[in-house]
Amino acid sequence: MAEIRLEHVSKRYIEEKRANYALQDVSLTVEQGEFVFLIGSSGAGKSTLLKLMGGEIVPEEGTVCLNGANMARLIGPWRVRAARTFGVVSQQGLLIRKRTVGENLMLAASAAGMMRRKGREAVKKALGIVGLPGVEACYPAELSIGESRRVELARAVINSPSILLLDELTANLDDDVIWDLLHLLTELNTHGTTIVMATHASQYVNILRRRVITLVDGKVAGDVKNGKYGDLR
Ligand code: ADP
Repeated sequence: MAEIRLEHVSKRYIEEKRANYALQDVSLTVEQGEFVFLIGSSGAGKSTLLKLMGGEIVPEEGTVCLNGANMARLIGPWRVRAARTFGVVSQQGLLIRKRTVGENLMLAASAAGMMRRKGREAVKKALGIVGLPGVEACYPAELSIGESRRVELARAVINSPSILLLDELTANLDDDVIWDLLHLLTELNTHGTTIVMATHASQYVNILRRRVITLVDGKVAGDVKNGKYGDLR
């Protein structure tokens, strides 16, 4: 079980000697097993919120807690254990282009603490989950955008994390590929994985009717269960 709780969290970046708030006074809790869409226009703070949730960055003000523990204060093995709670797909993509898919995923398996044999099994299983069995020998450049996103997802689920943090996983994909990915995420969620997903794909948000958190200028403008794109209650 893993719960993420943000209390009065603010994150600012200094640019040209001016502090710009990417997020301001955000308080929210994501319980284990929730499926959350994070929406808002470009620059609203979605990526920053995902990075804070995953402990990749720390806030200037407020606290981000994983199961009650302040992530900014975790050190050594506690920090490693917290990091392994999360599977992350970032906007930039994390695949190394000069390594094969298999090598990329083995690196992730090794970072998750798996030895070679267990790692190989995990790679096979993760590629099976995302519907791409047998692509270990391919290089990322040989894959379509949709296949690359699936491999990114395989990388994120390699150690069966409790929480998936997904930044624009569905950007620039065809409708049928988006549906396949959402079906897969729904399946993982049904089995207990928490999903927090930043997206612009309004039509899918409206069909799936999950929790919808809307950010406007770094603040939570809406947080609605079974919500639709644009709900601000
Ligand atoms: P979104 O994901 O909704 O597009 P971001 O979280 O990427 O929004 O950005 C929120 C705000 O923070 C934007 O104004 C952006 O320019 C700024 N920002 C994000 N990351 C950085 C950074 N590393 N350095 C400076 N400003 C940043």
